[in-house]
Amino acid sequence: MKKQALIIGLGFAGSVVARILADAGFEVITLEKRPHIGGNMFEYERCNGVRVHLYGPHIFHTNNEAVYSFLNRFSGFYPYSHRVIGRIDGQLVPIPFNFTSIDKLFPEDKATLYKSKLTKAFGSDCRVTISDLFNTQDSDIRDIANFVHQKVFLNYSAKQWGVPFSELDSSVTSRVPVVIGNDDRYFSDEIQMMPLLGFTDLFEHILNHPKIAINLNSESNRRIQLHPESGKVLLDGIPFNGPVCYTGPIDELFDYSLGALPYRTTDFVFEDYDVNCLQCTPVINYPNEEEYTRITEFKHITLQEVPGKTTILKEYPMAYHFGSNMIPMYPIHNPENRQKYDDYLELGGNYSDLFFCGRLAEYKYYNMDAVVARAMQVADIILATPKYD
Ligand code: UDP
Repeated sequence: MKKQALIIGLGFAGSVVARILADAGFEVITLEKRPHIGGNMFEYERCNGVRVHLYGPHIFHTNNEAVYSFLNRFSGFYPYSHRVIGRIDGQLVPIPFNFTSIDKLFPEDKATLYKSKLTKAFGSDCRVTISDLFNTQDSDIRDIANFVHQKVFLNYSAKQWGVPFSELDSSVTSRVPVVIGNDDRYFSDEIQMMPLLGFTDLFEHILNHPKIAINLNSESNRRIQLHPESGKVLLDGIPFNGPVCYTGPIDELFDYSLGALPYRTTDFVFEDYDVNCLQCTPVINYPNEEEYTRITEFKHITLQEVPGKTTILKEYPMAYHFGSNMIPMYPIHNPENRQKYDDYLELGGNYSDLFFCGRLAEYKYYNMDAVVARAMQVADIILATPKYD
């Protein structure tokens, strides 16, 4: 009998599972509700010829060799180290906040004092969290902590998450460290590379397999149902025999029966200009004065040459309303939401063929490399399950 698998969603989670299962001989049916593959990594070329990330800037970085070599099968990559500048007190300074930021924002004697205290406390050329700074006894380091907290994190986070900074889980804000030294890269991972022809091309190659059937514009809730009595997933009303990898919002799959899981979303506003270049760097963060959080100029990321044309993106964070056509983007990490997620997961446990993978299905603020690693793991679990042999 032919082995078959059903994949819902074609972002990284679904696409990677689909490819590994197809390579292993499964006939893979995929359902993607959007008119394109690639999830939030989708890239396209605007009328002016500039390639952009439709759902905000996505930068690949990892310490996971296995993830990188998996993706490398499907695309070449070019070295790209992401850099971000923040506008603070009218100055443009590196984010993560580093020694150059200190030099630009403080008088020379103060800057020298702060840098030497930080180096003494933490060593040189390393990254610490804002909490690490607050946890020291040294009053100068605590002054720096207060400054960074006020000028970099407080207002940006309030805009981004819609709640005061104090209510945020530290796992969110510790994504952006403070650098003890002059390293001005946004990430410190060993591998910082971007797909040569962009993410859409990478996804096209991942999914280009005779055993993968791609169905776009396919709302999964029109095609699949859960059948609690049999513990089976139905596809078009017929029990599906094989693994089902679901990468959409878990609450939607269960018809929000335990209530909606909250998310933040973003209003993306693109602007095209007839100039070569508008800003000096890929991303400028606006932690304080503006309503948007950051402006991305994509040519600095894609390294595309389009003379006389550029496109920028402003990101306005917003509350997400389930049932609207908004896109759930950022899971909101707190104990109450985690409990609700775990309750949904328990419901999912009644369906032995159902596997959850990805930011929405697992309600986790995953980076791209972590999703790929997780998808490789889910595929391995499926392949090791005797009933799917
Ligand atoms: N953050 C901040 N100020 C900044 C950059 C980030 O307060 O200048 C905080 C904010 O809470 C944000 C989090 O750090 O949501 C993670 O930032 P990251 O750049 O990783 O966010 P993403 O690119 O995933 O939107």
